[in-house]
Amino acid sequence: MEHSGSCAAHLALAASFMPDIARQLWTVGGSSIVAREPFGNLEKVADGVWALVSTPLNNDRTTVSNGGIIVGRNAVLAIEGFNQPEGAVWLAGKARELTGRWPTHVVLTHYHADHANGIAGYFANDGHPVVHATDRTKTLVLERNQPANTERTAALRDALIFSASGPTTLDLGGRSVRIVPRLGHTESDLSLELDDPAITFCGDLVWNAMFPNFVDAIPTKLAASVRALRRAPQTIYVPGHGPIARAAEFDRYVAMLDEVERAARKAHTDGLAPAVAGGNFSLPTSLGEWALFNKIFYQRAFEAWERELRAAAGTPPGFGT
Ligand SMILES: [Zn+2]
Repeated sequence: MEHSGSCAAHLALAASFMPDIARQLWTVGGSSIVAREPFGNLEKVADGVWALVSTPLNNDRTTVSNGGIIVGRNAVLAIEGFNQPEGAVWLAGKARELTGRWPTHVVLTHYHADHANGIAGYFANDGHPVVHATDRTKTLVLERNQPANTERTAALRDALIFSASGPTTLDLGGRSVRIVPRLGHTESDLSLELDDPAITFCGDLVWNAMFPNFVDAIPTKLAASVRALRRAPQTIYVPGHGPIARAAEFDRYVAMLDEVERAARKAHTDGLAPAVAGGNFSLPTSLGEWALFNKIFYQRAFEAWERELRAAAGTPPGFGT
């Protein structure tokens, strides 16, 4: 596969490994679901806040990643560009149904294809939202997400660039969204944070019930960013993939990352190649069900750790990296 940094191929492979329990959690209806599609469910999280929880279980690639809608008096913010323009068109249409307005702003949390490649869909139906991203994310979408297309490039051309050095506040009118630059899943990630009620859109820094994609990860930075994302106990976390999380699921994710770190540091000390260490690895059952129970995804995590540990030790990249 060409290195496009996409989570999508990873997820397509994952579908056949989705545990039954996770399938049920993702597909059993709840009173908060306001729209249901083959590719995902739109859930009301709070007044004026909705999350699209994608369900990439059947090879419907319309959205793949999670995303969302936040409305204020003056503006409607859409989160993520999704895997295909049809995904963004769908979310924008739902925003219009629910709020009376097409999105006026769009934020990309990071460059991965399944979060960014459909961005041009927001410009359908005479839409003309302001697109926001970090400078690095914009560059990476344009450079790495190949093949490029003119619509995507045009959608990003006039993007407003968020500072990478500190938070930016978007005032939607009676609703402020704190956009916080972070890193670790990629070299440039964003979280979007609301107060009262406390809701965090985590991008791919957090995954729930799915083992995360480490293809671009900087594992020590990821661990630090995830800890920084933890907020008060009642906080609602919208992960980049998987169902909406509360404190218990968030903490389970942190424990899972810690388990991977322990094993990867030991493999490094023991001189085990990532392919071998990943092949030997399993998560303790106390951490619950994690989809993508395919050993290759573990190997990617071990590769990411090995890259970082070798760099820290001044050792050139070697086997398996
Ligand atoms: Zn990603």
